[in-house]
Amino acid sequence: MNFKKSNKLYKKGLKHLVGAVNSPVRAFSSVGGNPLFIKKAKGTKITDVDGNEYVDLVLSYGPMILGHRHKKVQKAVEKALKNGYSFGASTENEIKLAKIVCDAFPEMDKVRFVNSGTEAVLSGIRLARAFTGKDKIIKFSGCYHGHQDALLVAAGSGLATLSLPGSKGVPEGAVKNTLIAEYNNLESVKKHFAEHDDIAGVIIEPIGGNMGVVIPQDNFLKELKDYLETKGALLIADEVMTGFRSKFGGAQELLGVTADITCLGKVIGGGFPVGAYGARNEIMENVAPLGGMYQAGTLSGNPIAMAGGISTLTELKKQNPYEKFEEIGAIIEVILLETAKKYNVDLTVNRFGSMLNPFFTKTKVTNFEEAQTSDTEKFAIFFWEMIKNGVFLPPSQFEAWFLSSALKDKDIKVIADAVEAGMLAVSK
Ligand code: PLP
Repeated sequence: MNFKKSNKLYKKGLKHLVGAVNSPVRAFSSVGGNPLFIKKAKGTKITDVDGNEYVDLVLSYGPMILGHRHKKVQKAVEKALKNGYSFGASTENEIKLAKIVCDAFPEMDKVRFVNSGTEAVLSGIRLARAFTGKDKIIKFSGCYHGHQDALLVAAGSGLATLSLPGSKGVPEGAVKNTLIAEYNNLESVKKHFAEHDDIAGVIIEPIGGNMGVVIPQDNFLKELKDYLETKGALLIADEVMTGFRSKFGGAQELLGVTADITCLGKVIGGGFPVGAYGARNEIMENVAPLGGMYQAGTLSGNPIAMAGGISTLTELKKQNPYEKFEEIGAIIEVILLETAKKYNVDLTVNRFGSMLNPFFTKTKVTNFEEAQTSDTEKFAIFFWEMIKNGVFLPPSQFEAWFLSSALKDKDIKVIADAVEAGMLAVSK
């Protein structure tokens, strides 16, 4: 396997693109080497510019849940393209996608489409403040909610990958209303409520996916929701990653908890730029033009993205792949654990449905601190061995691996062989 063309493009890209990438997680900073440049993808496979083919477990960081270029999505998008790309006025497809999304989340009467997960969350936070009239927001360390100023503290994802505590350029004032709690620790939330009486709500990734995969323990979410109700504060579920992935109704359906405000992205656009936030009527009525909370977007509800979203979610509902995800996820988990055992490699695997990832540590990983006990040098060795053996992984210990419903037995065989090579290399 050679990466000649990727390396050449990387050098060329450095001139006018920052680090030759348009999102820092795409850089290979924490695993060494240069980022791969992709030419195309189809089904379970992604192909780089040198013609190397990989089973794709990145899936564009989650959206490609049906695999790449599913024929129904392709057809729907091509059809939409023929009618025009953007109108600055409403289309029927926005109503259709809104119905699919609202039907999937029982507490959601209305939804507003935006262009990314970041926009969804920043609008969801604004809405929580508008509705409650309070300013403070609690977030959990290790949870990533996009790159808005207020939540770019103790965030996982690219910041964890690059070992950054927060972002430069975020003024102190922008985070003065952000309080940090520890994931899976209700007491750390209660402590803030004991000290502040102006907390609008708590934002959470109901299944952590940006410090690696971290699973809510026991009744953590349910207890959190019950507690917030006693305080008149809102639960804001950031389901940008888990929405329509953990279950059709997201992590909320899987865990039996309903949030007050839900933020979505990734899967709902089927690979096109879409985000959304939604809630029950009494909350959504605060959003302009019905209410005084302003939020807008030139390309919001973009017709191509709506076609991508409707076709993806319609096909997803039909396929109902969640049991299959559970089965395949469990198989990959066993492959990882048994191979690690064979080569005496310390490994913890966290998995929830179609999101999983291995941590190179003996420690159980239930929060960001424990996630950081993983040996990231071992991860880097493992990562490159997986690449060389035909499996495309996120180039970071702190990003989840995603499964698509297109995965076949032969892909799992490729993954198993690559894991064998990876663990062997790590053990040396
Ligand atoms: N929230 C979560 C949980 C995410 O995982 C992400 C992105 O990975 C975001 C928000 C931000 O979404 P976007 O990258 O589309 O702005």
